[in-house]
Amino acid sequence: MIAQVIINSKAKQLNRTFDYNIPTELEDLIYIGTKVLIPFGRKKELEEGYVVGFKEKSEFEVKDIAKLGDRLTEKQIKLAKWMSKRYFCNVSDCIKLMQTPGTRTKQNKVTDKMIQVVYLKKDIDEIEYEIESGKIKSEKHKKILKFVRDNEGATIPEIEEYTGCARGIVNTLIKNEYLEKVEKKVERNPLQDKKILRSQKYELTDEQKNAFVSIEKAIDEKRFEEFLIYGITGSGKTEIYLQLIEKIIKENKTAIMLVPEISLTPQIIERFIERFGKQELAVLHSKLSIGERHDEWKKIKEKRAKIVIGARSAIFAPMGNLGIIIIDEEHDMSYKAESNPRYDAKEIAKKIAKEENIPLILGSATPAINTFYKAQNKEITLLKLTKRANNSSLPQVKIIDLKQELANGNHSMLSMELYSAIEENIKNKHQTILFLNRRGYSTFIMCRECGYTVKCKNCNISMTYHSYENKLKCHYCGYEEKLVTTCPECGSKKIRYFGTGTQKLEQEIKKQFPKASTIRMDIDTVTKKNSHEEILKDFKDKNIDILIGTQMVVKGHHFPNVTLVGVIAADSSLNIDDYRANERTFQILTQVAGRAGREKLEGKVIIQTYNPDNFSIQASRKQNYNEFYETELELRKQLKYPPFCDIIVIRFDSIDEKIIKEVAIKTYLKIKEKIAEEFLVFKPMPAPIDKIQNRCRWRIVIKGNIDEKTTMLLNEILKEIYNKNLKDLRVAIDVNPNSMI
Ligand code: ADP
Ligand code: ZN
Ligand code: ZN
Repeated sequence: MIAQVIINSKAKQLNRTFDYNIPTELEDLIYIGTKVLIPFGRKKELEEGYVVGFKEKSEFEVKDIAKLGDRLTEKQIKLAKWMSKRYFCNVSDCIKLMQTPGTRTKQNKVTDKMIQVVYLKKDIDEIEYEIESGKIKSEKHKKILKFVRDNEGATIPEIEEYTGCARGIVNTLIKNEYLEKVEKKVERNPLQDKKILRSQKYELTDEQKNAFVSIEKAIDEKRFEEFLIYGITGSGKTEIYLQLIEKIIKENKTAIMLVPEISLTPQIIERFIERFGKQELAVLHSKLSIGERHDEWKKIKEKRAKIVIGARSAIFAPMGNLGIIIIDEEHDMSYKAESNPRYDAKEIAKKIAKEENIPLILGSATPAINTFYKAQNKEITLLKLTKRANNSSLPQVKIIDLKQELANGNHSMLSMELYSAIEENIKNKHQTILFLNRRGYSTFIMCRECGYTVKCKNCNISMTYHSYENKLKCHYCGYEEKLVTTCPECGSKKIRYFGTGTQKLEQEIKKQFPKASTIRMDIDTVTKKNSHEEILKDFKDKNIDILIGTQMVVKGHHFPNVTLVGVIAADSSLNIDDYRANERTFQILTQVAGRAGREKLEGKVIIQTYNPDNFSIQASRKQNYNEFYETELELRKQLKYPPFCDIIVIRFDSIDEKIIKEVAIKTYLKIKEKIAEEFLVFKPMPAPIDKIQNRCRWRIVIKGNIDEKTTMLLNEILKEIYNKNLKDLRVAIDVNPNSMI
């Protein structure tokens, strides 16, 4: 018998099956989905692969399968093959998402100590290229790099144990800047020593009950149905999820619940433990060590865990007898992967739910336009919750016109109204959150004499001034530079700093409210060492007066003592170069507003903006989703944007712009020729950010409804490009990407 095997490799040329002979003694042990170790090419070490099919005979001379590993189900292999086509990636990339992380069981110790963990330092694509092109020769180096690629955040002893390489080799890779070592506080496993105070379920309100019963019906009738629970913050969505899951478990089935990575806080996990205990719960997210991930995965495979809560990739958890999939905050962008494989967890969830004949539940206070559109068209069943479950009232929202403030001679970052509100809040010992979606100090540096702007030398974008380090930083590649005081073009000293970031805001707040305590949360303060959870915990436990932060502060946290939320500049998300600018603005503002007055204390929200009449800002003031949706949908229809089509972006990047241009134009012509008229194919152009890390970037944008035929054609075109072996040129196809730049 011959097994058809997919090699575990990123190389595009290897995205096909290879034939291997199954030795008689292994014949009864190999199924579709079994991981195998096989000799490959002239390599001394065995390669990893997966069996994806069988045949009687092979036309080639074949080698034997050497060893067996873990096993996936046939359904998983089917899904991986489908994903490979749909998301233009290798089957093995998808299989990897479905596999038990790590290979051996390891008891993880829970301590409060600092440990050292290892991350990739160099860009992953660059490393892969160096491996493929033979620049990295040592097998041990390759092995370690591949291991860290799959297990970022592993400790050095873990790397030693799993790769069998000595720590000295890891250190060499650190010295040569392939890897970096980071100190990290060991986070307590949230499930470990939690006191279990079982919570009772609530008597559902009429609205909750109505939603529950509709979904219950689909469960009882064992059929697929997609639901959208559209309910304002605090309307009791989570309570419905909990009671649905309870039902599922009683019927001896299992549940997957996805939440955005950043909302996967101890708070939500606690609510699940209180209801179900920790025995039956598994938690999957990126901060777990490999040992922990391995244990959680095993707990699932051995059917000890009945419920999985996790971020995007938890959709691949190997649950048996799945009964329901729930995706909370379904509008969140983190459900779409932006690196290879570029999958959409909502799409995968639907695929799985259909296959298993179970309901899929999406929940949000600000549903994605695409989702709501489907609900309007009855593709998704809409369930509405309009009242807060604990009777707290929605905050009062006020919009401040910054143009008016300027006209009144107020040049500070705070309007008079916001200033007084903060002052009052400090006096009352209530907490305030200030939101500004730009980090750093100044976002734009220009010579007033000749108009020269300081840009990153690797990327074609403005450098941001960071006052604490007194440096200029590129937010795309991390390149840093000393402060510019003289213009390199004209020699003038009239250099000016424009734009406001969180650092400048913090400084200003400290100046204006010297007695108030502040804490800042953005990518610069949230590091691998200092998690956002810790900052939020400090904010809550130490009753710090003011939390200043970017996007990170808006997601699902619950602070009873926060009564004031100030948005410093609502315009920053309106000005992004993306068709979803209005949608993002509405979602962010509504979510930020939802942080105020969540319990007994009444909340107040002040939004400052230069565009007070913009409809997404107005709709968020009224907390009127419908009004926003209607206006936005009309715009999308006129301009032909999703949900009226899909957007496919083909990205090319290379050091050599000539190669890109050549390939991009050829690709363009081929697409034009092959894709029927219903597609709008735009000419290849440099991307809005046309250079990142010294690599030039071009893109082709295609608008239309992607179906199996187009997917197939694009896959063929991609294959042709790769067969030409164009050195460092990278091509990626992304369907409905989060970012168009
Ligand atoms: P959401 O997920 O929509 O933000 P939650 O489920 O977290 O809402 O509910 C908000 C608050 O109301 C929570 O404190 C929750 O315990 C409470 N709650 C939910 N359902 C009920 C109910 N039926 N009766 C009383 N309180 C409820
Ligand atoms: Zn100048
Ligand atoms: Zn840069």
